[in-house]
Amino acid sequence: MLTLSVLLALWPNASYAATAVPVPVPKLFLDGKSLVSDVNPLLRNNYTLVPISTIAKGLGHQAQWFPQTRTVNVHNGTTTVVLKINDNKALINDAEVEMDAPAIIVSGRTMVPLRFVGEQMGLDLFWDNPSKSVHMYQKAPPKVEDDVSVDSGSGSSPGEGGDAGTVIPGDVPTVVDPILNVAARPVPTDAAGIVKDIVYDGTSKVTINYEGTITPKNAFTLKNTDRIVLDLPYSAFAPEFVKGFELDNNGVRKTEGRMLAANHPSLYNVRYSYFSDKPTTVRVVLDLSTASTFTVTQSEGQIQIDVAKPDPANIPLTDKNGNKIYKIVIDAGHGAKDPGAISVSKKTEKEFNLSIALKMKALLDKEPRIKPYLTRSDDTFLELKDRAKYANDLKADLFMSIHANSFTPQTTGTETYYSRSDSKAFADVIHKHLVKATGLPDRKVKQANFLVIRQTTMPAVLIEAGFLSNTRDEQVLFSEAAQNRIAAELVAGIKAYLKL
Ligand SMILES: [Zn+2]
Repeated sequence: MLTLSVLLALWPNASYAATAVPVPVPKLFLDGKSLVSDVNPLLRNNYTLVPISTIAKGLGHQAQWFPQTRTVNVHNGTTTVVLKINDNKALINDAEVEMDAPAIIVSGRTMVPLRFVGEQMGLDLFWDNPSKSVHMYQKAPPKVEDDVSVDSGSGSSPGEGGDAGTVIPGDVPTVVDPILNVAARPVPTDAAGIVKDIVYDGTSKVTINYEGTITPKNAFTLKNTDRIVLDLPYSAFAPEFVKGFELDNNGVRKTEGRMLAANHPSLYNVRYSYFSDKPTTVRVVLDLSTASTFTVTQSEGQIQIDVAKPDPANIPLTDKNGNKIYKIVIDAGHGAKDPGAISVSKKTEKEFNLSIALKMKALLDKEPRIKPYLTRSDDTFLELKDRAKYANDLKADLFMSIHANSFTPQTTGTETYYSRSDSKAFADVIHKHLVKATGLPDRKVKQANFLVIRQTTMPAVLIEAGFLSNTRDEQVLFSEAAQNRIAAELVAGIKAYLKL
């Protein structure tokens, strides 16, 4: 049985942050307790992979892997989630639901989308950007209230878990609020509008629900910190809402409420507090990791701030000294149903290609000025046009497709291909390093219209490291030492071309 893992939808994280290279491994917390796992969370394309075994264990859920159907079942007594490997459709109690990302297998582990599975299993998930942590909370069972609140059915207090993604649960008071409690403050008499609730929709919108009349001031941004600030003059918090604000270390209710906004590439935190009492003014602050455009709209009882998601491809990658970080796409040729060339001893080209790509990624991950992206990091199949599109959408700086060749048993040697003339210089540099690494006959740099190097829009090369139909070439290409040399020299070639 495979150990289950979870695929965590990408949180606003370091892959976009200017200075954070390499990407930190997110920390996991369940109901405030750190979850230690035997496998570190991984990033794959735009998702973080996290082992579910830890979480399933923590929650006491049943999880089963069925190798024949390549499905994973997770049950918690009321809900059954069935996920099929590489399939975006999940079954929730037999109803089909679309997911953002499919379950996949990486290095023998089944990875499923954490946000999706977690929410189906009744967890609230929050991303805390400053500490790069994922906080998961089991939704509290309905509490029997014994305090002054009679209006317990309103559900407007974010502490009651009515809306996923509102306020950090935890620290829910079990005693009567201290005197200093902002909740004990009477609603100011000059308030014409009462803020009942502030919610984040989990994608891009923060909604302020209110009663009465509120005329917001023009929202503004604080440039240095990339914050959006919206002031609501003549408005106050509903006492019920304030009860959801956290307590500080002394058990005193904080005067500022906040919620962590997961799943947005820029917005990571929403904070709200009284800003002034002449007139009484509520201030809502949206903390962003990257400057983002936004719109504020108002309708009856609702003010909405929609924060545009910056296109990841358009976020320039720079290190902390302002130097460019280059995006390099490494494309391991073939995969899954398409084995590529078959070697003399029946090994597959797709295996060789993936091995080189993974070795290159490991080396490139250590390069402060380079960020590698793999079109595939496991045995999956991709169409050629999707490989090119991936690099184009990413606005990658360089593209390299890894292959090995097959022809007659006598044919031997190393080739590097380019398609467009603007890729020739890159091909020349790469080829010099590749020939040195394989030690096989130099079959030169060649021009050919392979789709992946033709349809990509950046300098792009395709390497044919050797001929798997030749016994000696095969021996070289499947030797660990030669693979390490090839990966190292291809990386050296990339660095030489980029003058790093
Ligand atoms: Zn090939």
